[in-house]
Amino acid sequence: MSIAAPRRSARPVLLHLLLSALACLFAAAPVRAAGGPSVGPAPFWALSPDSGAFRTSMEAELSAAQASLDRMLAAGGRRTVENTLVPYNLAVLHGENAAYGSHLMESTHPDSAYRATAEELTQKASQFLDALNLNQAAYRAIQAVDVSRADAATKYFVERTLLDFRRSGVDRDEATRKEIATLLDEITKTGQEFAKNIRNDSRTIQLAGPRDLDGLPEDFIRSHAPGPDGKISLSIEYPDLYPVLRYATNGDVRRRLMHESQNRAYPANMSVLDSLLVKRYRLARILGYPTWADYITEDKMIETAKNAADFIDRLKETTFRRASDEYAVYLKRKREDDPAATQVDRWEISYYGRLVRKRDFDFDPQEIRPYLPFERVKQGVLDVTSKMFGLTYKRIADAAVWDPSVEAYEVWDGKRLLGRFYLDLHPRPGKYNHAAKFTIRQGATGVQVPEHALVCNFPGGKPGDPGLMEHSDVQTFFHEFGHLIHAILGGQGRWEPVAGTAVQRDFVEAPSQLLEEWTLDPGVLRTFAKHYQTGEPVPTDLVARMRRADAFGRALGMSYQAYLAALSFRLYDQPPDQVDTDRISAQLEPQFSPIPEMPDTHKQTSFGHLDGYSAVYYTYAWSLVIAKDMFSRFDRANLLDPTVAKRYRDQVLAPGGSMPAKEMVRNFLGRDYDFTAFDTWLAGKD
Ligand SMILES: [Zn+2]
Repeated sequence: MSIAAPRRSARPVLLHLLLSALACLFAAAPVRAAGGPSVGPAPFWALSPDSGAFRTSMEAELSAAQASLDRMLAAGGRRTVENTLVPYNLAVLHGENAAYGSHLMESTHPDSAYRATAEELTQKASQFLDALNLNQAAYRAIQAVDVSRADAATKYFVERTLLDFRRSGVDRDEATRKEIATLLDEITKTGQEFAKNIRNDSRTIQLAGPRDLDGLPEDFIRSHAPGPDGKISLSIEYPDLYPVLRYATNGDVRRRLMHESQNRAYPANMSVLDSLLVKRYRLARILGYPTWADYITEDKMIETAKNAADFIDRLKETTFRRASDEYAVYLKRKREDDPAATQVDRWEISYYGRLVRKRDFDFDPQEIRPYLPFERVKQGVLDVTSKMFGLTYKRIADAAVWDPSVEAYEVWDGKRLLGRFYLDLHPRPGKYNHAAKFTIRQGATGVQVPEHALVCNFPGGKPGDPGLMEHSDVQTFFHEFGHLIHAILGGQGRWEPVAGTAVQRDFVEAPSQLLEEWTLDPGVLRTFAKHYQTGEPVPTDLVARMRRADAFGRALGMSYQAYLAALSFRLYDQPPDQVDTDRISAQLEPQFSPIPEMPDTHKQTSFGHLDGYSAVYYTYAWSLVIAKDMFSRFDRANLLDPTVAKRYRDQVLAPGGSMPAKEMVRNFLGRDYDFTAFDTWLAGKD
């Protein structure tokens, strides 16, 4: 549930893509009336039907980037916004267009040869961007620009750019800069290897027959018929994994599937992860920091590694006792089935959590599934967000896309085209197997509109399968769409490197987690959650029961998130020769979570965020604190009311990364954020 990470490590800018020459050419083209074919700069995919054409288009981006950089460096006389910042903006924009587009194709294209081409192009684009960050002439040129009379966004852009240059090591001697460039390139490739091993390891288990599916919903059983040998295959991908863990009465089936899931990319990624830790540590040391954690937290809202460690401790303190109380309830329920039970294992949590909620809160997630068929939910996400933010989405008929299942849309604000997005929402072999918003192009006024893709793995998409979703899938969908809308509404400014979701990284999960709240509101749900057979809206009473049940297990869930945050942080806050990833994981888990660690598993090998977020997975919890506070400003009696949403759009989403996150939040709240709303929520009182 994330922002897909760029491969670049020295500068926390996210990845982007397009055909520069075309973008400039078409930027001034008049926007045609709504309802017609796609307008504005050509959509990024339009000229990439095969890997050769894709290579050509990405290389054209890199040439345009180089040409912009050359133009900037060649400018004579006094350094100005026009002769320096404008071409610098284009150099980064085109370089990132190549990086973002390649990264998306590397992660999603159905053809493995195409993915391999994209992987190589990602490396090339990363090399260009890393070299740019180490280019002293470019740094000095920007330093020399007088921005004293420029607007606030431009001033902040320059301030942040110069800081990024310094943090990249631009002021080091040539030999050191060379070493940094080599390390960055190695980190890019190692991160790619880490992600590829996760993508390509899609395991299955075989069941003896339909009896092993006892407890699972009927539609699930129907779509998992035995093969010719009588056996049933279950995959570790989400559409199989989540229902099995929640509903299967056969505990051994749950255990086996989770065991495979928690060993995804094992053993291949053990050494890859070690290598990533070593390289990042070395880079941090060269740049003058004690550890990578010190380096990576410095430009975040949290400011220091010490503050991050304190925040993770605070999470532990606020969750552990309550999580232990909840755990005792799980154990008590398990003892009704097995009086000799002494513990509840990881693969039993979802299952017993359901049984407890059923008994104590009269809520069974099976009841809500029939109201959540994929197509209706998708339409619901579109309708809810368009209403809140006053937008129109138009499906682009016959859009060129990388897989036939992908849908393309335009986003309109009245007569203004704001951007485009792509929905790639069902699993297929070799595809990124988590859920994320991928950047394709960040917006820049007069040059290109933002384009982004949601890459998820939801049920459905097959003929005859209604694709009944778990409510947690719906939350994921709204979460990722929260990133998407942030990226598009925040992508309307002048400076591409600070557009959209290029905010301070530990703020980026706030808009996405905020939008999850809309999935728990009966009024909102009833607009789209309609029974897949009868069309009847989800009963208000069912939603009310779900909301009450939702509070149970919250501390247990949060304590696991705190453990993951600690794992991400601790792997990076010490010299790698002291790091044994299995040992650290095994030491931390019992400190944070009362649930025993699953034996013989190595979940760090498929914890993709250990590359993209590296030490700062605490971001999710940190952003949640802010999201809960921001949600307190909305009118819960009418979440579809556009009034507060408009203010939120203007003050939090629209600025993108053009100001410090703390200021945006202060503008919206009218004060600094605090922990009150989060603590109330965690206590189950909300
Ligand atoms: Zn996210």
